[in-house]
Amino acid sequence: MITNNNVEQLFKIIDESTEILEEVLDTSYLDALIETGNNLISGQVQIEDGQPNEETRRNLEHFYAEINLSQLDNETIRQALQLGVLKAAQKDHIQANHQMTPDTIGMLFAYLLQELYDKDAAIKILDPAVGTANLLTTVMNDIHRNHKDQEISGVGIDNDDTMLALAGISTQLQQIKVDLYHQDALDQLIVNSADFAVSDLPIGYYPIDQRVKNYQTHSKNGHSFVHHLLIEQAMNHVVDGGFGLFLVPSNLFQTDQSGNLLSYFKNKIFLQGFLNLPKDMFTNADLQKSILILQNHGNNAHQAAKVLLGDFPSFKNQANMKKFLMEIRQWHQQNF
Ligand code: SAM
Repeated sequence: MITNNNVEQLFKIIDESTEILEEVLDTSYLDALIETGNNLISGQVQIEDGQPNEETRRNLEHFYAEINLSQLDNETIRQALQLGVLKAAQKDHIQANHQMTPDTIGMLFAYLLQELYDKDAAIKILDPAVGTANLLTTVMNDIHRNHKDQEISGVGIDNDDTMLALAGISTQLQQIKVDLYHQDALDQLIVNSADFAVSDLPIGYYPIDQRVKNYQTHSKNGHSFVHHLLIEQAMNHVVDGGFGLFLVPSNLFQTDQSGNLLSYFKNKIFLQGFLNLPKDMFTNADLQKSILILQNHGNNAHQAAKVLLGDFPSFKNQANMKKFLMEIRQWHQQNF
């Protein structure tokens, strides 16, 4: 049972010990948060070159003794860490492409995934831009909440070691089965195919043209869009007939590189849906995002007679949101 109280209490301990480490190690809040996470995993304060000193070590251990992780559920741990990452984002100015996926979006992904993957069979979920693993673990925890006996595992890739360190801490503290790889997800992957892909993709140009020349979505002139390439790479690592859900810019089909993406879809992928997130979530219309729903060919997959298109209502209007989610359920029943 999650109570806000538990989340707040755990965050308070994490935050206070992180602030101590930030000061004594003279480091950023983010690095001190990673240190705190590692201390919680190992159950002791890591000492390097005599730092932190004996007094601080005792002080921190006093804080850690107040936490009994085995009595907290995953969502409490995830949400408390999320508050820590949000504080780090404010203090250390994390750039937009590295920002954690908020719970509102994570819960929509979780809902859509469970509509599309309506089996009790084991499920392996891939996120090729896993970041802090907030999106991946939100989805995995929600499946677990609804299907207690279902075997769920994850695979996460990220080329940023700080983000991946946070993902490692989050998944270890939550004791969730996720294999994490620190690499460029557009380089060769050594992961077996997943049943499903989810990702809040980084947006922009990919700098290494040579590495992506064999991608169907690469641009013939200049740099290619990293989000197009990552969609292709993710779907190449999903089983036949498997789905992918991607958070993408709402103007995905209105850029000068959209042609490549559409011709890749035409030959290899069923474009099953495109749902715009509510406009009031974004400060500027150009920043609006949508959820793209793709399915691989094979294993009896077919193009839905009606592609799922629409706009999510504002999150503030719960009745409309409920109605919209029911419409998605009906669409799934009628088309699959
Ligand atoms: N869903 C994540 C979460 O909840 O924390 C946030 C993902 S963030 C919007 C995008 C991530 O893509 C960043 O963590 C960034 O480091 C990663 N990224 C960017 N380019 C990448 C690449 N070529 N290969 C792997 N990861 C990449």
